[in-house]
Amino acid sequence: MLPIRTKKELQEIRSNLAPNSKIGLVPTMGALHSGHASLIKKAVAENKTVIVTIFVNPTQFDNEEDLQKYPTALHDDLRLIADVSPNIMVFVPTTSEMYQSNVIPKKYDFHGLDKVMEGEFRDNHFNGVGTIIETLFSLIRPDVAYFGEKDFQQLRIIQKMTEILKLPVKIIGCPIVRESNGLAMSSRNERLDPSLRLKAGFIYDTLVAAKQKFGTESVHNTKEWVDNEFENHPDFKMEYFEIADVETLTPAKRKIENIKYRGFIAVYANSIRLIDNIALN
Ligand code: AMP
Repeated sequence: MLPIRTKKELQEIRSNLAPNSKIGLVPTMGALHSGHASLIKKAVAENKTVIVTIFVNPTQFDNEEDLQKYPTALHDDLRLIADVSPNIMVFVPTTSEMYQSNVIPKKYDFHGLDKVMEGEFRDNHFNGVGTIIETLFSLIRPDVAYFGEKDFQQLRIIQKMTEILKLPVKIIGCPIVRESNGLAMSSRNERLDPSLRLKAGFIYDTLVAAKQKFGTESVHNTKEWVDNEFENHPDFKMEYFEIADVETLTPAKRKIENIKYRGFIAVYANSIRLIDNIALN
C-alpha cells in the first residue's frame, strides 16, 4: 500500500471518486494500535471508501518534548491498516504540506467546551485539533468521520465545530479499547516501561471504583476519594479528576436528575501524560 503524500494527489483521487461513494474518514497521529483499528473497522463496515490520515499535528502539542518523543511507526501502521482492508487509502502528509511555513493554529470559539480539563491544562490544544480536522474535512469532504471516546472532550469539540461551521459530515464516537489490565490504549503507552505499564491499570480500576461510588455518594465525595487514591500512590501524579456533564462538559458541583455525567482524568506516569474517562451514570 502506497500512502498519499500530497494534498494535490489527495484532491485528485477525491475528485475521481463516484459522487455516491460514501466516504468515511479516520484521522490519526499514527503509532496505531487496536483502539485505532476499531475505528478503522467501523469505517470500513459503514462506508464504500475509507481514508485514514496519519499526521502528528504539531499545533496540538503544548509540550515540545511530548511532540519530539511522539512515537512513529509508519511501516507497521500501513500493515495494520492493510490487514483491516487492502482498499483503504492512507494520507501521510508532512508538516509543511499541511501548514506551509505557517505552523500556527486558527482560533475557534467552541462555546466553552475547550475551557475545562484538557483545555485548561494544554494551552491551545483544541485550536490545533480544530485546525487540522477542519483542514482534513475540507480536503476530503467525508460523509462520516470517526473519533474515539478515549478523547471524549475532543469528540464533543469536533461535534460542536461541525455544528457551528455547518459542515456536512456526521461525527461518530467509538468506545474506548483497553489493554488487558484496563489501561486505555494509547500510542503514548509505548513510552511506559513494562512494569509501569502494568501498574497503570490502576487508573482504570480507580475510574471503575469511582463510578461505583458515584452511584451512592455526592460529586464532592467521589472526587475527594479519587484525589486520595492518587495521593497515596507512589507511581502516578494526578493532574485532574473532573466529573462533567457529557453534553456541555461543565464540571458538576452536584448531581442533577436526567443529566448524564462522565469522570475525566489526566495522570502523569513519570513524564508521560495519560488520559482516560468513564461514563458514571
Ligand atoms: P490519535 O492517533 O491519538 O490522535 O487517535 C486517533 C483517533 O483514535 C482519535 O479519535 C482517538 O480518540 C482514537 N483512539 C485513540 N486511542 C483509542 C482507544 N484506546 N480506544 C478508542 N479510540 C481510540
